[in-house]
Amino acid sequence: MGSGLRIAIIGGGIAGLSAAYELEKARAAAAAVEYTLFEARERLGGSLSSEVVNGAVLERGPDSFLSEKPAAAELCRELGLGTELTPSNDAARKTWIVVKNRLVPLPDGLMFLVPTKLIPTALTRLFSLPTKVRMALELLHPPRPGGHDESVATLVERHFGAEVVDRLADPLLSGIFGGDAAQLSARAVLPRLVEMESLYGSLTRGMLAAHRQMRARAKAAAQKNTPAQIGVRPTPRAIFTTLRGGMQQLVDALDARLDPGSVRLATPVSGLKKTEGGWMAEAGGASEIYDAVIMASPAWAAGVLLGPVDATLGEELSAIPYSSSITVNLVYDEAKLGGLPEGFGFLVPAVEGRVLLACTFVHRKFLGRTPPGKAVLRAFLGGMKNEALLAGTDAALVATVRRELSEILGGVVSGIGVEPEHAQVSRWPRAMAQYAVGHQERIARIDARVAALPGLRLAGNAYDGIGIPDCIRLGRKAATELLASQHVSESKEAY
Ligand SMILES: Cc1cc2nc3c(=O)[nH]c(=O)nc-3n(C[C@H](O)[C@H](O)[C@H](O)COP(=O)(O)OP(=O)(O)OC[C@H]3O[C@@H](n4cnc5c(N)ncnc54)[C@H](O)[C@@H]3O)c2cc1C
Repeated sequence: MGSGLRIAIIGGGIAGLSAAYELEKARAAAAAVEYTLFEARERLGGSLSSEVVNGAVLERGPDSFLSEKPAAAELCRELGLGTELTPSNDAARKTWIVVKNRLVPLPDGLMFLVPTKLIPTALTRLFSLPTKVRMALELLHPPRPGGHDESVATLVERHFGAEVVDRLADPLLSGIFGGDAAQLSARAVLPRLVEMESLYGSLTRGMLAAHRQMRARAKAAAQKNTPAQIGVRPTPRAIFTTLRGGMQQLVDALDARLDPGSVRLATPVSGLKKTEGGWMAEAGGASEIYDAVIMASPAWAAGVLLGPVDATLGEELSAIPYSSSITVNLVYDEAKLGGLPEGFGFLVPAVEGRVLLACTFVHRKFLGRTPPGKAVLRAFLGGMKNEALLAGTDAALVATVRRELSEILGGVVSGIGVEPEHAQVSRWPRAMAQYAVGHQERIARIDARVAALPGLRLAGNAYDGIGIPDCIRLGRKAATELLASQHVSESKEAY
């Protein structure tokens, strides 16, 4: 390496790749910067990984990202993948919850776990009569000043009762975080609800007020439009966005932009030391000096590496819990499988006592990624309560998934017992950070320790958002901050 800012990026998941891409752009624009991206595995992408089998896109990890968070779609467009962006098929969106082995639809009008429509809530089979009465009385809840953090389960139970935790909050959160509503932080995971409670008391009233404000803003924006646009309803944005050929496309496009000489696969960083004015990273039996480090590995790995530099920081990072998960993709001949219920799939509450946490009807959620005549069911298992599952063989996991699918869908899907044409099992040990109660306070303490270590930045799913867009945002931010700090020091030198 020559002179200029030398940065080590530790971890080649989407956060580390986004950081590397930002540095590569600066390098290509003649900035005095060089980087080395260290990845422990033989491939880049971390949790993002997909495979195309007989024309069907099978996602091993994430299948999409939230459309309302712009960072992921923006990056895709920047990389020339704009035409590959594919919205979820929201016209067919319907989600079921398994209640005593039967599928019950989520009632219409639920917003962030909060019921906002009277009739669907009154008629749903998801909740018992006492819970429905409690939901109506929730409108009278007095405002509660923001105090200590608490679990999502505590917040939801206070407003709507334990049944709503079991049948709604827990399955929705385990479907997203592989987590447990009794452990997850209300402030970190549902900040809007915490704010609404302090302002309005009732979450339902808060949600309705937010909805009214949103509509007023949309109307005001429409009134500002040119006459040609008036009367044309804006197309609502799909909830999820994916890439036509799979999330792997994003990894491949980023990889293609990086300098091959700057990427080291199968090279875990095994030690990190703070030196005078820099950092020494040990990897592949050699040590190299860098000016700065972007730590984009999971927090538990960051904790091990940073412990010898700052023991308190190491402990704080290592204390961020992670959950493991498994995905099982099953490809079927649609005619043999028989008609599936409408919608995107179903969620399984933990109280049902199953290993299955969720099942997506992949060919319905995103059109054009499964060949005609094929159906793909993707099972999601694991979570905080089921770590031991990871040790199961592929065959045992597929058999368990097929048995549970038959028990849940047996009465509705005639061919659910038929042999799938293809089965793919993917294990994700300790891949999803859990924002446990007190998460934000922990992150504030971590930030303070990091600020005292010049040239260190953290990025990844453990800090400020678990989803792909947030990981991209944090990766790029880490890189731009380091580049900006170099400009500051360069201009000081020039002065
Ligand atoms: C099954 C599953 C489904 C998901 N579904 C969605 C979804 O639909 N939408 C969504 O937005 N998000 C989803 N997520 C979450 C999202 O995918 C992740 O939060 C995100 O990809 C994490 O990216 P990351 O770069 O922070 O970490 P990772 O992807 O975990 O990457 C970290 C990398 O660091 C490497 N590493 C570790 N230690 C070292 C070391 N010492 N030296 C060098 N390298 C090291 C690892 O090998 C790994 O490649 C899902 C996650 C999983 C597991």
